[in-house]
Amino acid sequence: MDKNRAAAAPTYSLVVPIYNEEAVIPILLRRLDALLDSLDAPGEAIFVDDGSTDTSAIVLEAKARSDKRYRLVKLSRNFGHQVAITAGLDHAGGRAVVVMDADLQDPPEVVHAMIARWKEGCDVVCAERASRRGESGFKRMTAGLFYRLIGALSEAPVPRNVGDFRLIDRKALDGFLAMPERDRFVRGMFAWIGFRQGTVTFDRPPRAAGRSKYSLRRMIALAANGLVSFSDAPLRLALWAGVAVSLLALVYGLVVIGRWTFGDPSLARGWSSTIIVIASLGGANMLMTGLVGLYVGRIHAEVKRRPLYIVERAAGFEDAPGVNADAAADRAGRARRARLKRE
Ligand code: UDP
Ligand code: MG
Repeated sequence: MDKNRAAAAPTYSLVVPIYNEEAVIPILLRRLDALLDSLDAPGEAIFVDDGSTDTSAIVLEAKARSDKRYRLVKLSRNFGHQVAITAGLDHAGGRAVVVMDADLQDPPEVVHAMIARWKEGCDVVCAERASRRGESGFKRMTAGLFYRLIGALSEAPVPRNVGDFRLIDRKALDGFLAMPERDRFVRGMFAWIGFRQGTVTFDRPPRAAGRSKYSLRRMIALAANGLVSFSDAPLRLALWAGVAVSLLALVYGLVVIGRWTFGDPSLARGWSSTIIVIASLGGANMLMTGLVGLYVGRIHAEVKRRPLYIVERAAGFEDAPGVNADAAADRAGRARRARLKRE
């Protein structure tokens, strides 16, 4: 396909977050070239460099300058996977936008199947992992547990075994971009916006090169963020635990009063019972304060209204009509424009 024509009006956008992926970039670029060539309409690939400290950004900027179908958005520091995805989605100009990992665990070839579902009328096409090769038993187990938990607790049905690999139609994307929240659990948000959701399944291969950027700590942070963002079950848990402990304390108090009434001679030694009551009430109190604190912390983050990310520079947008890199930073403005366009 003619590269210049491809850049003129992309139908498809691929959004790829990059964090220290220099080991995988040569293979990634080959596979993306092949994918872009095989699409039935023009496509663009948008890399979001999430504050890499290796040569990733340099290599990708060179690619964006030499091939009109490629673009690079370089964030000023490491903002994390979920924010990097959001930055890429802000800059995407396609009618159908695909989010995929850089490490080829989300095989570019699956995009064809997603496009087929999109053409059938699906607005959000999730890629479900039928298997996960090359991932530790521990990761598989914790992931399974997490998906089950959030599936049971979340107000919107977050699909199981689906990561961030999905195709999104423009109108669903506008809905997503209109969500102003700062804690961005992207897969939950795409479940929350609704629209017609579809699924394709694929076998998830191991990482093509390099190492996972998700440490255990980051995985726990992502899971906790997802649960607190999309469920108020933890808050209700605190409430019920508080009620239960208070009831127990009440019953125990009645027992103590009963024994006192009937002159139980051992009662004078009631030091242990005092300790138990104080400890259990103190524990319940701490649990509830801690959980409320989680939510207060989030309110705090929301009211600060800092920009979600800061773009250090953008490359390869010169010939991209319809994409205004400055305006993309203004999330509200973008949603407004999208609404005007529809009216
Ligand atoms: N990533 C990112 N910022 C981060 C961590 C990861 O942009 O802070 C990107 C990373 O380059 C990759 C994708 O997110 O394209 C998924 O990361 P990874 O493959 O390390 O996660 P895993 O598949 O091991 O869960
Ligand atoms: Mg990976």
